[in-house]
Amino acid sequence: MTEEAVPGCPFCQIVAGNRPANIVRRDAQVTVFRDINPQAPAHILVVPNRHIRSLAEVQAEDAPLLGVLLSSAAEIARQEGLASYRIVINNGSEAGQSVWHLHLHLIGGRRMHWPPG
Ligand code: 5GP
Ligand code: ZN
Repeated sequence: MTEEAVPGCPFCQIVAGNRPANIVRRDAQVTVFRDINPQAPAHILVVPNRHIRSLAEVQAEDAPLLGVLLSSAAEIARQEGLASYRIVINNGSEAGQSVWHLHLHLIGGRRMHWPPG
């Protein structure tokens, strides 16, 4: 399900400009900013402006928005000069999701390990 800005949601606050963040890009659908606790030299979050709790909440009609998230990540990677990078969506607490507003991690600038932990 999608909702308007959710009080207490840190990413809704960043989208609204009510919480400091190192913003890389803002547009009509997506806000992109640097992760506060980077796990690599480049660690950027790509967030839909609309609050969606997690990937598991996504509906069929959200498919275009998911495309925008991914294409935004690819554009930002080009802009950052990243040839190799990893895109991660953690869905659910056991998978490491800690912020309940859908976001895509763009991680790069170092060698990645596989399988991920
Ligand atoms: P998750 O664990 O949900 O997949 O990812 C949440 C990410 O958001 C973490 O990498 C965490 O460091 C980052 N994060 C949490 N709160 C903030 C914040 O207020 N500002 C920024 N820039 N990143 C945040
Ligand atoms: Zn939110």
